[in-house]
Amino acid sequence: MHVYSIPLRTRFRGIDVREGLLVQGTAGWGEFSPFREYDDAEAAAWWRAAREAAEEGFPAPVRDAIPVNVTVPAVDAERAHAIVRASGGCTTAKVKVAEPGQSEADEIARLEAVRDALGPSGRIRVDANGAWDVETAVARLAVLDRAAGGLEYAEQPCASVADLAAVRRRVAVPVAADESIRRASDPYAVVRAEAADVIVLKVQPLGGVRACLRLADELGLPVVVSSALESSVGLAAGIALAAALPELPYACGLATAHLFTDDVTAEPLLPRDGMIAVRPVAADAAALVRTAASPEQAGWWRDRLARVRVLTEQEPA
Ligand SMILES: [Mg+2]
Repeated sequence: MHVYSIPLRTRFRGIDVREGLLVQGTAGWGEFSPFREYDDAEAAAWWRAAREAAEEGFPAPVRDAIPVNVTVPAVDAERAHAIVRASGGCTTAKVKVAEPGQSEADEIARLEAVRDALGPSGRIRVDANGAWDVETAVARLAVLDRAAGGLEYAEQPCASVADLAAVRRRVAVPVAADESIRRASDPYAVVRAEAADVIVLKVQPLGGVRACLRLADELGLPVVVSSALESSVGLAAGIALAAALPELPYACGLATAHLFTDDVTAEPLLPRDGMIAVRPVAADAAALVRTAASPEQAGWWRDRLARVRVLTEQEPA
């Protein structure tokens, strides 16, 4: 059991340092890295995913490389341009919008820079993380669609399923559901309300690769697999899901290793020509030493895992 602590290159979803716990089992390495503010009940799904990776391994892949998007945080236009150009050949970009303290003009400038860096054939999607109300989403998406020279889709423009459905009825830009799937008590509400064109699945919050495959089958919408901002051990589970899905019409949000200043392996899961190869990832000793958390952090994670294990120990592995 190892606890890592790795600074991020840019502040992302309110954090500057990513932490998590890695376990090694008979099938390989697994990552348990629920965000600190998540309670034990929510963290249980993350543990199921880590346990699956370590003890069961992953289902058979149907493809050997995964197209991925570059993720552009809420940075200025110059940084956004540089991030896309340094992305390892990604032809799709996901751009964060609706950042507190930023204006519509900031978002327009960021999207124009991303379009310039990608060229006319690139695809651009935005992610508002549920921050807009319906009226703001409808107005802003029209503006951003023009600034981007066309948006592939808008991820979670509003927080509630009802609001997503309302936005979807009023805008031409397709809508993707992320938080409404992975943090909802009822992920099927999105389908019943016809609230999304695309669903985003993340392996750890949804309890593992097999759980995600079942959910994708039941929801019946195109899937984009995204990371939960993990080390390459956690990303490997996302790659395994993307590799096992019967259909994969969109680039996945799994090219996030570059957001970290270091990794737990000597061979991070980074894209080449916009694709990440499907392969197992093992943590290595030197990287684990380099990225080791402080004893206090490690103790916190071990305590958390002990509590979550109590919640999940009655379950079949
Ligand atoms: Mg999202």
